[in-house]
Amino acid sequence: MKNCHSNPKNGYRIAPSPTGYVHLGTVATALVNSYLARQNGGRFYLRIEDTDSKRYVADAVAKMKDCFKYFGIEFAETYVQSERAEIYQKYAHDLVKQGKAYYCFCTEDDLSQMRATQVKNNEPTGYYGKYAKCRHLSAEEVQQRIQAGQPYVIRANFGYQDWGERIVFNDAGRGEIALLPQVNDPIILKANGLPPYNFAHVIDDTLMGTALVIRGEEWLISTAEHIQLCDLLGFPRLNYLHMPTINIEDNGKKRKLSKRKDPQALVMNLVDAGYPREAIFEYLLTIYNSDFELWRTANPSAPLTDFEFKISKIGTNNPLFDLPKFNDIAKNVWARYDHATVVKMFNAWDWQKLPNITPTIKNRLEAMLGVERGGERPRKDLIKLEDIPDLYSYMWDEIVVDGQDFDRNLLSAYAEIYDANDDKDTWWQKIKNMAPDKPTLRALTGQVRLAVTGKTNTPDLWAICRILGNDVVKARLTRW
Ligand code: GLU
Repeated sequence: MKNCHSNPKNGYRIAPSPTGYVHLGTVATALVNSYLARQNGGRFYLRIEDTDSKRYVADAVAKMKDCFKYFGIEFAETYVQSERAEIYQKYAHDLVKQGKAYYCFCTEDDLSQMRATQVKNNEPTGYYGKYAKCRHLSAEEVQQRIQAGQPYVIRANFGYQDWGERIVFNDAGRGEIALLPQVNDPIILKANGLPPYNFAHVIDDTLMGTALVIRGEEWLISTAEHIQLCDLLGFPRLNYLHMPTINIEDNGKKRKLSKRKDPQALVMNLVDAGYPREAIFEYLLTIYNSDFELWRTANPSAPLTDFEFKISKIGTNNPLFDLPKFNDIAKNVWARYDHATVVKMFNAWDWQKLPNITPTIKNRLEAMLGVERGGERPRKDLIKLEDIPDLYSYMWDEIVVDGQDFDRNLLSAYAEIYDANDDKDTWWQKIKNMAPDKPTLRALTGQVRLAVTGKTNTPDLWAICRILGNDVVKARLTRW
């Protein structure tokens, strides 16, 4: 059994449940925690909350770890709750000994009958007051039932104490919050010997020395219960920060970003689409820190780790996932990279899934990724690698060109003199020599561009033609 008593209270953590793939909100929480750990000289650790076996997804832990690794999120420690059952059991049984918790043998049937009675009497449903039947079982009866092999859970005895009207705490992001106390006696140890989230959270964050529990705002209301459990256990209360959930606008209505409906909710979908991970970080910082954009504008090429994250700038409004904004950030992020970096990222990405990709096409694309890169005003066209077949369609052999309006004589005359070895000035001079005036010049370059690329607007035409080479360019200029 791992002893955590010695942990100083300087921990920051994420505590995902392995119920599927990693949610964008989890990466946001990880990002905030890693900033705070770095800024405060704290530890950053991972706790896998796998005590809910019903929701368990087989390869989720491995997938999660791969994802964190991909994002360069590193943990000083990793804990797995299912390996810590004995710790929770010890605390639960200690509470029983002190009369602060008790065995409950109520079956599903008992509980649904209880609820039916409560509903009929117009009373709040739950395990409280006179309905908390097992609260008053004698020690002998408990012994007998256990010996007879009756399954049981352990419930916290909240009726043991007067909690006052409100449980008040200071949320690091929201300020003072007053919540109604939990009046039900919650389960702290399930029949399978594992705790639900409420109990495991309080014990783990105490033993692991969490300085600030940063979690989604969906936990805000249950914080009363968590504080009550802390008090029951005689632990000092924990500090909390509840992060606003990322929303999305769906038919004019705001709702939570959903794993099932919104591909962008699962962060690996964004990675698979070929967004740079830095764009994901930047976007999350933009929505979770109101001064990040100003900082980025003032420090366009500074590493993200230079940014000072302030809790006070998180805000309490639900940020909206705004795709155009995210895409814009991605464009700026790509534009900051040099050619070698982009090629490396392209190779690390699953480029094999691009249609009809041959070694020749791949080489062309790698060269294309360097066109108009660097310099004062780098080209900002790339959003995600998945868009490459649309963006740079002309790097493939089969391109669609509508040749109706072409001046075929002019294009074949140009094909005669085109040479991919020409430097840019020579290339430009040759074009100019063929066009006596500005309108003709514009028409000629427009025709060449369209014939070679199928597009009216492209990056540097000279560079594109050089990548394609003499044979391809000439064939495209004279295909009629
Ligand atoms: N396992 C909880 C979740 O995935 C974690 C909440 C927390 O961070 O304490 O929502």
